[in-house]
Amino acid sequence: MSSKTILRNSIARLLFLIRLTAPARRGRMHLSIATFHRVLPEVDRQSYPYPGLAVTPEELDAFLNFFTENFDCGTLVTQHERYLSGENPARPLLAITFDDAQYDNYRYARTVLAKHHIKASFFVPVKAVERQELLWHDRLGFAILALLKQARGGEEKLMRILTEAGLSASGPGSLLSNVVNASKGIGLEARLRLVETLVEASGATSAPDFARLMSFAEIAELAADGHEIGSHSMTHCLMPECDNRALTYEVAESRHVLQDRIGQPIETFCYPNGNSDARTAHAVEQAGYRRAVTTTWGNNGQEADRFQLRRYDMVASRVHGSDGKFMPALLAFRMSGFYPCLG
Ligand SMILES: [Zn+2]
Repeated sequence: MSSKTILRNSIARLLFLIRLTAPARRGRMHLSIATFHRVLPEVDRQSYPYPGLAVTPEELDAFLNFFTENFDCGTLVTQHERYLSGENPARPLLAITFDDAQYDNYRYARTVLAKHHIKASFFVPVKAVERQELLWHDRLGFAILALLKQARGGEEKLMRILTEAGLSASGPGSLLSNVVNASKGIGLEARLRLVETLVEASGATSAPDFARLMSFAEIAELAADGHEIGSHSMTHCLMPECDNRALTYEVAESRHVLQDRIGQPIETFCYPNGNSDARTAHAVEQAGYRRAVTTTWGNNGQEADRFQLRRYDMVASRVHGSDGKFMPALLAFRMSGFYPCLG
């Protein structure tokens, strides 16, 4: 553990002790929104291409312990409406959200949420669920893992495909995250072609069963539990890349299909990858949504644009202390606004 990390943890502990970073103080008069993606047992997380996008059920339990102690928790639709009506409870308002409608949300998150009596919001990429096809970044990730595991020539094959697509695997992160980030910049068609080429080259025609998306029946069960269901577009493509026709399809059509399938009004839109612009936000408003969430780090005051709401992305490893255990003071520090350089 670096001395910088030790210093950071000590500062976090001290500030929490004197309650300077206490959510009751720092989150007051604001709407906070927490983001989770996958919830996977450790054994599955280890074979998932992006372990940072997953928390274990035990880690989710620790997060929810902290949240119930320090916040008034609920779905985004409930908490946002309460916030707009001027409610200002002693424990500040927090909405819990899950992106991507992964089956593990149904299998694991549902139980942990029920234990804490928390209702949450789940954002569904509609076409992907209909087709039961993994999102492009997962298909790409599993294909690259399979290529890297090939005894002979897998890595060379991978590098050749990347070069042909005009991409480099170098960058600040892991090979996988560098490729994902680079491929976000090459346009929709080229990106999907790249994914198909990688899947074909890897010979990995199917991903492990734990990685699948929820079915509409499972999503409807979450809705029946009292959780909110929101749209995460049709195909999880990056909204600013869409022409106006595609935008209507992604935004308006996903709302219609979900309302038909779930039988409840769909009021929240979640931008895939957090990407949005003025045209996208306008399309979301026109389609009848009441709010939309981004991946921009932070909470929301009265001046917040309801179609550009900020969220706190929950990454378990970033709130672990030197003993590897969940450290409430560190999470409070990260959510306090005092902690610099957060993405
Ligand atoms: Zn997503």
